[in-house]
Amino acid sequence: MKESQVVNELFEKWIEDAKTKLNEDNFFLKINEYLESTHPEICGKCAPCRDGVPRLEALLKEYKEGNATLKTLKEIEDIVNNLRSSRCSVGLDIGKNMEVVLENNYHLLYNPVKKY
Ligand code: SF4
Repeated sequence: MKESQVVNELFEKWIEDAKTKLNEDNFFLKINEYLESTHPEICGKCAPCRDGVPRLEALLKEYKEGNATLKTLKEIEDIVNNLRSSRCSVGLDIGKNMEVVLENNYHLLYNPVKKY
């Protein structure tokens, strides 16, 4: 299994090894830094990327503040799915990298909000 220290390499590594996951150290920080790094590329022409990325950041902040619930996680999943409808590779790439996070680091998002 390959581990990635950075979110923007996840999809490329996942193509070679479907078990690729994001290294767990500073998990939320790494995702936040990655999403923030995409801001200059986001042109605002389509909703999945323009609205989805800031919303993703807000939802991840709920984890940081200890306010995340199963609803938070469900919305994160919906937004990542919506990114498949982005108009160009900027949003598509964000979605693909975040899909690898959801697939292979899911427990880090699920454990803090599970009910039992
Ligand atoms: S996916 Fe592309 S077209 Fe859509 S807002 Fe992002 S950068 Fe603009």
